[in-house]
Amino acid sequence: MAYDFDLFVIGAGSGGVRAARFAAGFGAKVAVAESRYLGGTCVNVGCVPKKLLVYGAHVADELEQAAGFGWTLEEGHFDWGTLIANKNREIERLNGIYRNLLVNSGVTLLQGHARLTGDHEVEVDGQRYSAGHILIATGGWPQVPDIPGKELAITSNEAFYLKDLPRRVLVVGGGYIAVEFAGIFQGLGADTTLLYRGDLFLRGFDGSVRTHLKEELEKRGLDLQFNADIQRIDQLEDGSLKATLKDGRELVADCVFYATGRRPMLDGLGLENTGVELDGRGYIRVDEQYQTTAPSILAIGDVIGRVQLTPVALAEGMAVARRLFKPEQYRPVDYQNIPTAVFSQPPIGTVGLTEEQALEAGHKVQVFESRFRAMKLTLTDIQEKTLMKLVVDAETDKVLGCHMVGPDAGEIIQGLGIALKAGATKQQFDETIGVHPTAAEEFVTMRTATR
Ligand code: FAD
Ligand code: NDP
Repeated sequence: MAYDFDLFVIGAGSGGVRAARFAAGFGAKVAVAESRYLGGTCVNVGCVPKKLLVYGAHVADELEQAAGFGWTLEEGHFDWGTLIANKNREIERLNGIYRNLLVNSGVTLLQGHARLTGDHEVEVDGQRYSAGHILIATGGWPQVPDIPGKELAITSNEAFYLKDLPRRVLVVGGGYIAVEFAGIFQGLGADTTLLYRGDLFLRGFDGSVRTHLKEELEKRGLDLQFNADIQRIDQLEDGSLKATLKDGRELVADCVFYATGRRPMLDGLGLENTGVELDGRGYIRVDEQYQTTAPSILAIGDVIGRVQLTPVALAEGMAVARRLFKPEQYRPVDYQNIPTAVFSQPPIGTVGLTEEQALEAGHKVQVFESRFRAMKLTLTDIQEKTLMKLVVDAETDKVLGCHMVGPDAGEIIQGLGIALKAGATKQQFDETIGVHPTAAEEFVTMRTATR
C-alpha cells in the first residue's frame, strides 16, 4: 500500500526534529506536525531560555566580585522586561532556524495538533495523512499536585513570560528545575524560598554534591526549607499569595512556582485509536528500538520517560532515523555515563555513578574529594567553595563517576564524559597533565583517597 509519507513525526521538539531531518536526509518522505512551537520545550520553555536567564542572574556575581579587581561601579539596576524581551527575540530567531532546517531538508511541516486515528494514520486540522511509520515525540508538560489553589501557582512554562520579576518567590520541588529557578530568581534579586518535601533536595545525585550545594546556597542567602510542602494556596486582598504548609506554617509571597516533575504529553493524541500501550508510570511503552506495542508506531524523548534531557532525545531521534532508513549505520543509544549539569548557582556537573550507586552496585569504592576556594575569588571576600569528587573502583582502578559543584561545572564535565566513555582509569587521570591555573586541573591532581 502506498502511504502519503514514509515517516510522520508528531512534535517538532528536540527528538522529533532530529529524527525528521535525518530521515529526510536518508531519502525518506517525511512530515512533521507541531501544535505549539518549533524546537519544542528545550528551545522555547526549557534549556535555552533557562540558560539565558541563568547568565542574567550570574551577572550579579560578577558585579559583586568586581571591587576586588579594582572596579568601582555605579549602583546597578536590573530590568526584567529587557531580559525577557531580548530572550524572546533570540527564541524567535531560533524558531526560524528550526523552520529552515526542516524545510531545507525536504520535510513537510504541518502546523497544528496531530491526533492518531489508526496505526498508520494521523489527522491534523481535519486533514488525514497516512504513513508507513509514525513517530510520537510529543515531549512532556509540567505537573502540579492537586491542591486547593493550584491555579494560583505558575510553572516553568509561565515563568519565562512573567511581566515583572516577583519580589518574593516560593519555589516548590527539589529537582533540576526547582534548583535552577531558585538560583535565577534569587540571583536577579527576588526574595526566594525553596520548599522541598524530603530531607535533602536533588535525590539521585551524589550525596557530597547535594550537601555541598545546600551549604553554598545557604551561604548565598537562599532560604532552603526541607521537609516542607504546601497544603493550600490562597490569594490575599492585596493580590499576594498565602501558602499554608502541611505543618501549619503560613508563608506569603508574590509568586508560587511549582517544579514538581513533568508528565508525558498525551493530550488529545488519540492513542485509544491505536495499539499503543502505556507503561506503569503512564509513559509510552517502547522496546529497545523505540517501537511501541503498535509495530508501525515509535516513540522517543520525554514521552517515553527514560532520561529527560535534550541530548538524549537527539540521540534517540538519530537512532530511529537510522534504524528505519539507514540500518547499516544504526547504533543503539548508550545510556551509560550520560553527563549532565544542573545550572544552579553555583552549577553542578556530573557523569557516571554516584558514590551511593557504586556501593550499591557492589563496587569496592575509593573516593577522592577536594574542596577549595576558586582562584578567581581570592581577591574578593566571597567564601564560596568548589567541590570535586572522583568515585573509583578500587579493584580495577576504573573511574566510575566524576562530580563537581562550582563555576563552569557543566563545561568541565563534558570532557570527563569522554574519559569515562573511554573507560579511563584513575592512573590515566593522574598521568594527564593539568591545565594551569584552572579549577579543572584538580580532577587530575587528586592523589590521596579521602576514603
Ligand atoms: P519536546 O522538546 O518537549 O517537544 C515536543 C513537541 O511536541 C513540542 O513542541 C509540542 O508542542 C509538540 N506536541 C505535543 N503534542 C503534540 C500534538 N498532539 N501534535 C503536534 N505537536 C505536539 N534538558 C537538557 O538537556 N538541558 C537543560 O538545560 C534542560 N533544561 C530544561 C529546562 C526546563 C525548564 C525544562 C522544562 C526542560 C529542560 N530540559 C533540559 C529537558 C529538555 O527540554 C527535554 O528533555 C527535551 O526538550 C525533550 O525533547 P522531546 O523531543 O522529547 O520533546
Ligand atoms: P524532577 O523530576 O527533576 O524533580 C521533581 C521534584 O519535585 C523532585 O524533587 C520531587 O521530589 C518533587 N516532587 C514530585 N512530586 C511532588 C509533589 N507531589 N509534591 C511535592 N514535591 C514533589 O523534575 P523537574 O520538574 O525539576 O524537571 C523535569 C526534568 O527535566 C528533569 O528530571 C530533567 O531530566 C529535565 N531537566 C534538565 C535540566 C538540565 O539538564 N539542566 C534542567 C531542567 C530540567 P522527590 O525527589 O521527593 O520525588
